[in-house]
Amino acid sequence: MNSITHNPNSADQPNNPEQSDIKNQIDSTVEKSPVVQNSEDEPGNTPQIVLKPKRALPFFGRHPWVFAGAIAHVERSPQPGDVVDLLSNKKEFIAKGLFNPNSNIRVRLYSWNQEEKLENVFWQEKIEKAIQSRLLSIDKNDKQIARRLVSSEADGLSGLTVDMYGKFVLIQLTSLAISKRLDDFLVVIKKMIKPEGIWLRTEKGIKDQEGLELSDGLISGNEPETPLFITENGIQFGIDVKQGQKTGFYLDQRTNREAISKYVKNHDVLDLFCYTGGFSLACAKLGNAKSVTGIDSSENAIQMAKSNALLNGVTTAKFKANEVFKELEQLKEENKKFDTIILDPPKMTRHRAGLNKAMKGYYKLNEMAVDLLKPHGILLTCSCSGLVSVEKMQEMLSSVAANTNRNIQILEQRNAAPDHPVSVHCLENQYLKCFICRVV
Ligand code: SAH
Repeated sequence: MNSITHNPNSADQPNNPEQSDIKNQIDSTVEKSPVVQNSEDEPGNTPQIVLKPKRALPFFGRHPWVFAGAIAHVERSPQPGDVVDLLSNKKEFIAKGLFNPNSNIRVRLYSWNQEEKLENVFWQEKIEKAIQSRLLSIDKNDKQIARRLVSSEADGLSGLTVDMYGKFVLIQLTSLAISKRLDDFLVVIKKMIKPEGIWLRTEKGIKDQEGLELSDGLISGNEPETPLFITENGIQFGIDVKQGQKTGFYLDQRTNREAISKYVKNHDVLDLFCYTGGFSLACAKLGNAKSVTGIDSSENAIQMAKSNALLNGVTTAKFKANEVFKELEQLKEENKKFDTIILDPPKMTRHRAGLNKAMKGYYKLNEMAVDLLKPHGILLTCSCSGLVSVEKMQEMLSSVAANTNRNIQILEQRNAAPDHPVSVHCLENQYLKCFICRVV
C-alpha cells in the first residue's frame, strides 16, 4: 500500500476536455511521425544506425546520447520514435535506442542487450524500478511528500522526468520518442502512486529541439490546486505546479537546504535568488538564524515566499523583489554585512560557447557576495550549469579569494539530493554543484 491520498475514482475517470487536449497533442505528433512499431518483431528488420569510425567507444561505455555528428549512415528508413539498433562502423551491435531525425540527439540509447525488445513491458519495468527505489526512502504516510520519482538518464529513461507532490504527479517529456511511450509510463504511475491527478509541464524550446509539439496541461485525473502544499525538512511550502518554475519547486536543493541550516544559528542571512524561500525558511526555521533577507527578481516567487513564511509562523525572514546585482550594489553602498550569504543563480549557459561569459558572471557574483561577508562568514554558492565543472567552480573561488584578500575554506562540496542521482554513464547530468565555504 502506499500513503498517497487516493480518490479511487479520480485517476481513472474518463477523459475530460483538458485530458483530451494533451492526448490529442501527443497523438498528432505521433500521426505526423508514424511509428513502425513492429519492425523489431521481424528479425533482421530493425532499422540500423551505423557510426563513423572511432566514434563507438562512448556508446560501448553506455553513454545514452548519439549526436548526429557521430553517425555515418542510417539503414532501413526509421521513422521518428522508432526502435533502432546502434552499430559500430564494423557493424558490431552496440545498443538499442529510439530514433529522432528532428533532434540533434539523433538516438537515445536504452538497452545494451541485443535480445531485449523495447516494447511495453520494457518501459513499464524501467519506470517501476525507478519509482520503487524512491519509495524505499519516503514516509508512506506523508501526504505532503515532494520527491523526484524518475530522473531521466540517471534512471535509464533519457527524456522522462517525473515528480511527485503529495497527491499529484508532474511529468516532463524532453524526447519525442519517449512521449510516444507515455501510456506505458502512465499505467505504472497510476498503479504505484495512485495520484489524484497527473499534470504535464513542458520545457521551453522543446519544439525546436525535438520536434515535440506539446504544451502544459492535465493528462489524467483532477487538476492540481494552486497553491499545492508540500513539506520539506519539516517546513511547509505552498507551490504553484502549473505556473511556477521547473515543476513548481527546486526539489534538487532539499539536502543542501538542510545542510546550510546547521551553520546559521543567530546569523544575519542573505539569500540571493531565493525563489519561494526554500533556503530562507530552512535558515530561519531549522537553523534559527537571527534574520533572513531573501531576494529574487520574480514578483510571483517573492509573493509565494512571503506566504510561505507566514504559513510557517516565521517572522525573522523578509523578502524583496529585486535584481540581484542591483541589490548587491545597494547593500555595498549601505555598508551592510552578513554572517551567511546564499547564492543560487539560474543556469548561466546552455552552450560551450557561453562558458567564459558564464564564469565571469559567477566570478562577479561571488566576489560581490564575499565583500559583504563578515570575517569567518559562511558562503553557500551553487552552479546549476551542466557545462560548469566542479574544477571550474573551485578555480573561480580561488580567484575570488585572491582578489578579495580573503581565505576561502571549502567545508562541504555537495550535489543534488539523492532522488536526483547522477549516472556514471552520463556525467553531463551532474549539473548541480553546491559549495559551503567559510570565508575567513
Ligand atoms: N534558491 C531557490 C532556487 C533558485 S532558481 C530555491 O531554493 O528554491 C534561480 C532564481 O533566480 C529564480 O527564482 C529566478 O526568478 C531568479 N533570478 C533569475 N535572474 C535573476 C536576477 N538577475 N536577479 C534576481 N533573481 C533572479
